[in-house]
Order: sequence, then structure tokens, then C-alpha cells
Amino acid sequence: MTAVRVAISGPVREVQRATGGGRVREMPTEGPLVDRFGRVHDDLRLSVTDRCNLRCVYCMPDKGMTFLPRSEILTFEEIARVAGIARELGVLSVRLTGGEPLVRRGICGLVRHVAALGFDDVSLTTNGILLAPVAGELAAAGLRRVNVSCDSLRPERFASIRRRGELDVVLDAMSAAEAAGLAPLKVNVVLLRGINDDEILDFAAFARDTGRVVRFIEYMPLDAGGRWKRDQLVPGREVLERIDAVWPLQAARRAGDAAPADRYRFVDGNGEIGVISAVTEPFCGTCNRLRLTADGAIRNCLFSDAEHPVRDLLRSGGTDQDVAMLLRRAVWGKLPGHGINEPGFLRPRRSMSMIGG
Ligand code: SAM
Ligand code: SF4
Repeated sequence: MTAVRVAISGPVREVQRATGGGRVREMPTEGPLVDRFGRVHDDLRLSVTDRCNLRCVYCMPDKGMTFLPRSEILTFEEIARVAGIARELGVLSVRLTGGEPLVRRGICGLVRHVAALGFDDVSLTTNGILLAPVAGELAAAGLRRVNVSCDSLRPERFASIRRRGELDVVLDAMSAAEAAGLAPLKVNVVLLRGINDDEILDFAAFARDTGRVVRFIEYMPLDAGGRWKRDQLVPGREVLERIDAVWPLQAARRAGDAAPADRYRFVDGNGEIGVISAVTEPFCGTCNRLRLTADGAIRNCLFSDAEHPVRDLLRSGGTDQDVAMLLRRAVWGKLPGHGINEPGFLRPRRSMSMIGG
């Protein structure tokens, strides 16, 4: 691999400290992936497919989804090559996602390949339907943790939100993942006003009973059907207040932690929850994320249409240095914020499942 080797023995946050978290004047050609605003990018989302075995109401329409042709999807070798170059540029954690990553055949092989690149953390987000049978193999391949999405603890409601699949299968998958050592397990819950917001306390109790970290996610304008309306989201602040009134919470977020979930511990020590208030309380100022779509575009923000296509570079003899510079340019072009709450905000052309959530 010819890409510039970055000394990442010390914390990459040193760059942020060196720039005072402030503006950087010129795009660096060495060192970590830093943007104009001093944000160091050390977290990479790899979308391995835009396909899915479910059709969650907040993500895809029931019918009529079209998917990318196979020839446009990056091969595992191509994905692993980009991941390896990102690692050389100081990326520390990788999450495999999609679409549904477990519908892609041979996914354990990709996990093995990516895990061997030496990241601090390799995780995966899944709807859980296909997880139980492969949990052991994923763990053996080097996967550290999984996030399992589950928006209701009531079987009929689960089925109506996710449109396909069964709650029991997903709950069994969570146990199988934990038995395989994929822990701590996180549970992603997208809250929809009037649909499942009456389960906030049930999910809090679930977190307390199981030790799983339930993360309440605000509904974002990223559904492929274009049906998002602001009044359908449940603000993270409201979630915290409703839980805190029953089981007092205390902030658990570490200083300098760039993870988007604001984490809270139950004061009595019985577990933890998180809220991802991407719409009402954006965390853009500390965003450290970079995404690779299934068809090989680098994106620096879920909500920006700016894409930096890496696939053609990979397929036309581009060197690792060329790919590294493309990653640098992608990070360098990042805007200070996603702008959802500003007048004139336009929904991105590609939806969550196409970008990689
Ligand atoms: N299929 C996998 C799953 O459902 O976990 C991984 C991909 S999915 C796009 C990643 C996460 O995005 C899931 O937790 C899902 O609930 C969430 N998600 C999808 N559409 C969303 C939306 N419009 N707003 C907020 N979260 C969304
Ligand atoms: Fe599929 Fe995940 Fe989107 Fe649901 S949220 S439709 S499981 S990609």
C-alpha cells in the first residue's frame, strides 16, 4: 500500500487541539483527515448494499424500490481497499451498513478482511432478521459489536412498522449476538409520533432489564418515499424528559466524544440509553464521519448531495495515493452543518438506505 502513513499512535484529536478546533487554511496532504473546520474524520461507514429484506415505513416505500445493478456495486476487494487506505489516513472505526448488510452473500469474508486492517472497532448495523445464524461467524471474523434496529416491542406493531419480518426473530438475534460475544449490544429505535412514541418507557425498561443500550433516533428526512414531515419526529429532549421523570438519568457522554448518540446512564446504575437528535439538536460541530456508498461514492454528510466517486478510480488503475487524495478532498469539502433547520434546505436526492445509515 503506497498511501501516506499517518502516525496515529497518539490521539488524532491532537490535530483538533492544534487547530483549536478552528479553521484550517489549506487542505493537508499528510496527517489525519481533517476538514476546514478542524474536524478530524476517524469514523467510516461502509455501505455494502442498497438492498433490504424489510421495508420500514420511515426508510422505504412498500413497493417500487429500484436497486443498483450488481455491476455498479463495489466488490468486497474494492471496499476493503478503500477501508485500508482510510485506515492509513487515521480512520479508527468502521461500521458496515446498508441497506441490510446481511443480505449480501459472503459478508463474513468482508468482515474478516476489514478487521485484519487493524481498526480499533469494527461494527455492523442490522435489522437482525438474518443475524442469529451468522452471529458466531461474524464474531470469529473479527466483528466487535452490532447495532440491531427494532422499533417496537409489540409483535403486531413491529410488523406494521417494518412491514416484513417478525419481532421474535429479532429478539432471538439479539441474544444470539450477545452469546457470540458481540457486546455491548445497541438497539436502534426510530420514534414516530403517534405510532410508537407510547413505547418510550417500555424501551427504557427493556434497556434496564437487558443491559442493552437503547438509542432513540429522530426520524430524519431521508426516507426513499419522501413522506417525512417534521411533526412526525419525536425530539430527543422529550424522550429524555419522559424517561428521567420515571428513572432519573445522568449524562454519560465523555468530553470530546464525537459519537452522535448523547448517552445517559440511569442514576441507579441499571443501564444506559442514548438519543440521536440529528434534527432538533444537530451534532455537526463534532461530526467525525465519512461514508462510502455501495456504488462507491464518498459522502461527507448524510444530508449533502456532494459525492466523490471513487469506483471509477479503483477500476481504472488509480493508485492508493489517488484514492487517499480523493478522501482528503471529500473531507475538505464538508460544510459546517447539515442545514436541515435552515430555510431552503432540500432533501438529499439519495435516501438513507442508498447512502448507508
Ligand atoms: N438495515 C439495517 C437496519 O435497519 O439497521 C442497516 C441500515 S439502516 C438504513 C440504519 C439505521 O438507519 C437503522 O437503525 C434505521 O432504523 C435507521 N433509519 C432508516 N431510515 C431512517 C430515517 N428516515 N430516519 C432516521 N433513521 C432511519
Ligand atoms: Fe431495510 Fe434498514 Fe431501511 Fe428498514 S431501515 S428498510 S431494515 S435498510
